[in-house]
Amino acid sequence: MQLKTGSPLYCGKSKTLYETSEPEYCIAQFRDDITAFNAAKHEILHTKGMVNNFFNEFIMQKLTEGGVANHFVSRLDADHSLVKRLEMLPLECVVRNYAAGGLIKRYGLQEGQPLDPPIFEFFLKNDILGDPLVNESHILTFGWASSVEMAELQAITLQVNQILQPLFANVRLMLVDYKLEFGRLQGRICLGDEFTPDGCRIWDMDTKEKFDKDRFRLDLGQVLEYYQLAAQRLGIKIPY
Ligand code: C5P
Repeated sequence: MQLKTGSPLYCGKSKTLYETSEPEYCIAQFRDDITAFNAAKHEILHTKGMVNNFFNEFIMQKLTEGGVANHFVSRLDADHSLVKRLEMLPLECVVRNYAAGGLIKRYGLQEGQPLDPPIFEFFLKNDILGDPLVNESHILTFGWASSVEMAELQAITLQVNQILQPLFANVRLMLVDYKLEFGRLQGRICLGDEFTPDGCRIWDMDTKEKFDKDRFRLDLGQVLEYYQLAAQRLGIKIPY
């Protein structure tokens, strides 16, 4: 397969997708950019792309083993992975096991409050609108997904929780919340995008220390170091 050439298919805030010579595959480049507050805050964190590429490989492999269909094919090098090309849905699927971030602001909760059963939310992926919370009625009427697809998105996002919560708990990390994005592949829902500390909240079970992008959002410092520590705890081997 001819590797990435020419212009990118899609350039996101921290990843770029390139076409390959095979129309059903793309190459995802994990970049060193880190952004928050809809890119109002932006920095370059040297080697973050590599750490996230290895992190994502590990999680996607665990999800594949757990029966979650996803776009990941193989890691190509330090900061590139081969993925299946999906027709992406303009939705973000969030599961929350503990109250944090946007949920606290919206409902005035205490950070860390356990959420049982976990909360599932849809957001519209739209930077201009600031990714608003949307419900099933909005999604159906505006045609972003069908009822059957919505049920599947929720079921798969919660299935991911069943696989990842114990994986993190084993190394005394709490999976506080996470965001997933999905697409269609030959008419079937398939997990796309990434699972990295950029798109989830991970806390130490004992100290409640943060190992995720909140370190950047909240200016807590040592952002990359904590991403690396989370990877290390999970047993992800990253060549430095
Ligand atoms: O900000 P909020 O609390 O709604 O985020 C919930 C989870 O989804 C967090 O783990 C956050 O990192 C992730 N998220 C994301 N991209 C967004 C919005 C949220 O990765 N655009």
